[in-house]
Amino acid sequence: MPPPFASELPPPPETTEGEDRGPLAENVTEARARRAPDIYPVELDEDSIDPDAAKVVRRLVRHGYEAYLVGGCVRDLLVDRRPKDFDVATSARPDDVRRLFRNSRIIGRRFRLVHVLFGGGKVIETATFRRAPEESAGRDADDLLIRNDNVFGEAAEDAQRRDFTANGLFYDIERREVIDWVKGMPDIERRAVQTIGNPVVRFLEDPVRILRAIKFSARLDFGISPEVYDAIVSCRSALRRAAKPRLFEEMLRLLREGAAHRSIWIAWETGVLDVLLPELSTYLADSLESEDVVWRILSELDRRLAEESQPLDDTLLWAALLVEPMREACIGERDRVDAAYEFLEPIVDRLNVPRRIADPVRRIVAMLPRIESGRLGRFARSALYPLAADVAALRGASLERAPESSSPSAAEESDGGRRRKRRRRRPRADA
Ligand code: ATP
Ligand code: MG
Repeated sequence: MPPPFASELPPPPETTEGEDRGPLAENVTEARARRAPDIYPVELDEDSIDPDAAKVVRRLVRHGYEAYLVGGCVRDLLVDRRPKDFDVATSARPDDVRRLFRNSRIIGRRFRLVHVLFGGGKVIETATFRRAPEESAGRDADDLLIRNDNVFGEAAEDAQRRDFTANGLFYDIERREVIDWVKGMPDIERRAVQTIGNPVVRFLEDPVRILRAIKFSARLDFGISPEVYDAIVSCRSALRRAAKPRLFEEMLRLLREGAAHRSIWIAWETGVLDVLLPELSTYLADSLESEDVVWRILSELDRRLAEESQPLDDTLLWAALLVEPMREACIGERDRVDAAYEFLEPIVDRLNVPRRIADPVRRIVAMLPRIESGRLGRFARSALYPLAADVAALRGASLERAPESSSPSAAEESDGGRRRKRRRRRPRADA
């Protein structure tokens, strides 16, 4: 099915007053009218909507609550991608949701939401509308970092607290309408990553959003709006204040979703890589233009992800990202495992890389020259060998592939190739 908007995009806004929608209809209409969202009639293909998610929404609505599909699933359906999962937002409180669905459980201590469970391990995450914290409650005036976002709110507020306009759309299944409090539809139509509100404020509130902006731009092939791009550059050092496990997880997502090349390219171009992985950005800056092995390996990862239905192993992803600078760090060292350890330790500290990943990455990279030259010895019988052979195969395939496979991303093209000409021996001091 072609995307349901583009040239057929109907003119907003339309109000929704006067229609009967059950016991809470008046309140619902009032709440909506106060903030006047733009309403877009959109015929999403029924078959592309998860039937269990639709069931959750419909039952909530039948019981008088507001309920919508929200976030990533609405965005993905609008750009004609298959959503990873379907999330529901509702006016019902967690205990109310729990009561309506026998097959559900309340999760989360900081913010309670409900997992409604279906066959095959499917989970429909159902969250009560919440709003961004008041300045006094959740954060200090001179420090925007959000520490407490646990306040229930209305649908409009729930839309406003989200990160990007494309992620702030609500879909009303019964009326077949996208409800847009954040001017997200125009951004989806022009394929732009745009924060809800001032990008500097939103990035300082939660610096991980910087990585999310990169992820969405790379994965959806959206452009980053100029003010968001500038805010990424000016706020990137705030990433040092973010929770390390979240940084690690978001870095993995950049590699995992089939757009590793483009993601790391944007991270490099914006200087985000200087903050998170200066070891890699220095290596890239020092490499000759003809030495584009890192980029080729990332393209090869993307190619394999597109071909294989299985997700790639996390250790393979990290080894692929770091193998080139790590190999360089090991050159000429008597104890290669030790040299690899020295290289990796600051990264482990900075990003909380778990030992289950850091340890094998180190050993695999130290072993690579022997694998590549066929001098395996006892290592061939070790439990790590299959993964190490996979890393060697990935690197081998990247080296063999025609150079155009690592051609610059859309980001680079839009930038006139500016990044390639830059030369740095050290990460930028201001990063
Ligand atoms: P994906 O396809 O990767 O799951 P997603 O948009 O569904 O993308 P999630 O991380 O699953 O992303 O988050 C679900 C929704 O929650 C987002 O669409 C967004 O509206 C909101 N959200 C997630 N993280 C943040 C954040 N850091 N700040 C504000 N809103 C967020
Ligand atoms: Mg999601």
